[in-house]
Amino acid sequence: LPFMYSYVVAVLGLGRSGMATAKALMANGAEVWAWDDDEDVRARAREQDIPLVDLHQANWLEPVTLVISPGIPHRFPEPHPVAKLAREAGVEIICDVELLGRAQPDARYVGITGTNGKSTTTAAIGHVLEMARRRVETGGNLGRPVLEFEPMQPDGFYVLELSSYQMELTLSITFDIAVLLNITPDHLDRHGGLEGYVAAKRNIFRRQTSPRTAIIGIDDPICREIWEDLKRAGDQVIWPISGEGRVEGGVYAEDGLLWDETDGKRVAALPLSELPQLPGRHNWQNAAAAYAAAKAAGVDPAIATACLRSFPGLAHRQEKVTEIDGVTFVNDSKATNADATAKALACYEPIYWIAGGRAKEGGLSGLEKSLGRVARAFLIGEAAEPFAKALEGRVDSEVCDDLDTAVRQAFAAARRDGREGAVVLLSPACASFDQFKNFEVRGEAFKAAVRALAEKETG
Ligand code: ADP
Repeated sequence: LPFMYSYVVAVLGLGRSGMATAKALMANGAEVWAWDDDEDVRARAREQDIPLVDLHQANWLEPVTLVISPGIPHRFPEPHPVAKLAREAGVEIICDVELLGRAQPDARYVGITGTNGKSTTTAAIGHVLEMARRRVETGGNLGRPVLEFEPMQPDGFYVLELSSYQMELTLSITFDIAVLLNITPDHLDRHGGLEGYVAAKRNIFRRQTSPRTAIIGIDDPICREIWEDLKRAGDQVIWPISGEGRVEGGVYAEDGLLWDETDGKRVAALPLSELPQLPGRHNWQNAAAAYAAAKAAGVDPAIATACLRSFPGLAHRQEKVTEIDGVTFVNDSKATNADATAKALACYEPIYWIAGGRAKEGGLSGLEKSLGRVARAFLIGEAAEPFAKALEGRVDSEVCDDLDTAVRQAFAAARRDGREGAVVLLSPACASFDQFKNFEVRGEAFKAAVRALAEKETG
């Protein structure tokens, strides 16, 4: 990406996006001072000739900008010491997405934020636009670091997933199409409370002016209020979306269909049964968002729905692995809290449910209503015993030694019961760190166990 920087720029955090940032800045003439608190990460950076400067000890009169990785707190609950030094010295703090915005001020941007569903919706929008032969670069919080993007052609779009932290540090991008999916209290500590969190999320609509399009999920009270505000301001095209029923003038799921009222009349866009890779109301909200964004980008609605059908879905999010002997296996390893698991439990019946790991605060609370579809639970990890206790009297459960055992036991139980529609579902409601490096590794382990089982069963 072409942009010129002839000064000192500090880069804190040298993961994938931090490395891409340092390289892009160097290629554009900046003097880079890079740092990561982790010695191993620094060693890797050194191997790739990234100049390291201990930013804890640096002369902060030199840098003009600090580019900080989104995982590092820059304000709440307690700023990282380097962020504090930078702020005291009057150095601006931004993230890599802001640099993209400065490098490509005239490109068109689609931004996606919200508490849940960002990755799914971003991937779906990227997929639909690409299938509809638009030039797109998809990334941000999801997948590819934005500073690895190619310069954009006039007919193309940057499709960016933005966490609330990235929203806070992205000042100069105007989104041509802005999507806010939902807001539920989460990560509040990083924003100094709910107000800061909501402000960061709704920033996505800032500086948006007609005829740009604001797409807003209205299935939670906070977003509903933001929708009312936007309508009152009345200076942009606003398309409300819902996975839970009709909303006038919007795109929504109702009676098994996705409906489009954005042209003033009610048109059935497609049957939701044609999107088996996006099961459940929450995913219908994501599908509505993707359809609306594609339409806002000028894609013909019939083409948008055809492209949505071919969206494969994302790995580890209610991902269908295979079917053995009438039993379907679903990998929902990304569900690291009770809320996400409740969403998956609402989608199948009967469920042979594999859960456990390192429990989050609150454990299984909030799941009670969803347990009716669970035939039996198979519990793993640190949370196995406490979960077994919490489920007592509601759902039969057994504690399993590990994920492999749980997969075998769950399948055996499903086959024994012989009920139609049986699903073995890994939806842990827990972090993975007690047994796995991250949720991806846990999901891959589940899929490997399922494949081994399939091989054994089919001889
Ligand atoms: P994010 O990138 O925002 O974390 P993902 O697309 O990775 O979101 O989905 C994470 C989990 O959030 C999913 O496994 C699902 O349980 C839940 N989820 C997905 N979409 C939505 C939505 N629109 N509303 C509420 N929950 C959702």
